[in-house]
Amino acid sequence: MDAEDLYQRRIADRFDAFDQDGNGYISREDFTTAASRLLEAFETPFRSEKGQALAVGAEAFWQGLAGIADVDGDQRVTRAEFVHGAVKRLRDNPERFAEIARPFVCAVLTVADRDGDGRAEVAELERALRVLGVEPHTAALTAESLDVDRGGSVDKEEAVMAFARYFVTKET
Ligand code: CA
Ligand code: CA
Repeated sequence: MDAEDLYQRRIADRFDAFDQDGNGYISREDFTTAASRLLEAFETPFRSEKGQALAVGAEAFWQGLAGIADVDGDQRVTRAEFVHGAVKRLRDNPERFAEIARPFVCAVLTVADRDGDGRAEVAELERALRVLGVEPHTAALTAESLDVDRGGSVDKEEAVMAFARYFVTKET
């Protein structure tokens, strides 16, 4: 398997992360599902400031992804649309991906920021990732690696860029 195949496979795996309800395509429901799972797990009311920020971020993320990848405009991003549309247009451009993901990722970090100091606690972020379907081992590694200064918490902008790189950068 060459580098190109590996890259395509990696992106195909990312598709599964987006398809939160596992019905084989990405749609607005996957983003609202992710948001409600998270709010429920963190006992955060939908109508709270954090809840609203997450809902707005989820919608913006969906709109951004659909704008890039929903080629036929049926409000569903199929695996093929994701791999060909999103991959081609975002390739090696994590900044562009970060732009559309930023409000959602920041809102997730805010939900995981229990003490309200503007940074998400590592253990809470790990829990949030698990709620979003990330495997426990990967969730732990990811949360820890984002705690750059080992201070026990994670900066939002660092998380946004790490998330974007994870999804679109060719090299690991
Ligand atoms: Ca889905
Ligand atoms: Ca479509």
